[in-house]
Amino acid sequence: MRKKIIAANWKMNMTIGEAESFLKDFRLEIEEVTGVEIVIAPPFTALPKLSELLGGSQKVRLGAQNFYFEKSGAYTGEISAAMLRDLFVRYVIIGHSERRQIFGETDSFINKKVLAAHASELKPILCVGETLEEREAGKEKQVLETQLRGGLAGVSAEQLVETVIAYEPVWAIGTGKTATSAQAQDAHAHVRAVLAELTDAATADKVRIQYGGSVKPANALELLSQPDIDGALVGGASLEARGFAEIVKAGV
Ligand code: PGA
Repeated sequence: MRKKIIAANWKMNMTIGEAESFLKDFRLEIEEVTGVEIVIAPPFTALPKLSELLGGSQKVRLGAQNFYFEKSGAYTGEISAAMLRDLFVRYVIIGHSERRQIFGETDSFINKKVLAAHASELKPILCVGETLEEREAGKEKQVLETQLRGGLAGVSAEQLVETVIAYEPVWAIGTGKTATSAQAQDAHAHVRAVLAELTDAATADKVRIQYGGSVKPANALELLSQPDIDGALVGGASLEARGFAEIVKAGV
């Protein structure tokens, strides 16, 4: 049985004060929740405060939205894996479509981050997903396969089990348009089949695959009930404590 993983991707939102007040409200909402892994990925500036407040909590894990794969040195503006580990960060989002599209990240660049994350005991949340144009051209499966093969090159079976894949159709991110549960399940099954080709079926069966793209309380349960959907990566709807808690509860 794969434990569901629900992650908040706050993107470029939330000051330290806002993050602190979110966490206070959110913890009250999820007091009774067990059996689901919860990750919050705030902006870097809010990580120290949340890390201090969480104090190594098993219930809510910290994630980062990005990092750079080199260990240290002259990389102005960048954050290393060791700096994140210093704050007890467990997960790091890699290859988000906004990083691919706005910041030009390629599969081989993303692959370096995936390998560096594993080398530093950070668990990657590797995002993959097709654009609307690619879906309309019937190319979505091919795009997913290219992104998975590129992003996961050189990753061992043991590391793959510690990797989370987030299937995020680009046309569903921040648009209010969600993939239907059937479309999402179909893509997730394909992702798992590619993972099985990269390793073996038993390994692929252990990997958690999140869905992302306009997940909200109203559609979370239906999506999370699909056999190959093992969690959610939530943007907009993760900025409000009660709403995000409802999504978490849909994963129980
Ligand atoms: P959204 O973002 O929930 O606002 O669509 C999801 C994501 O980009 O991870």
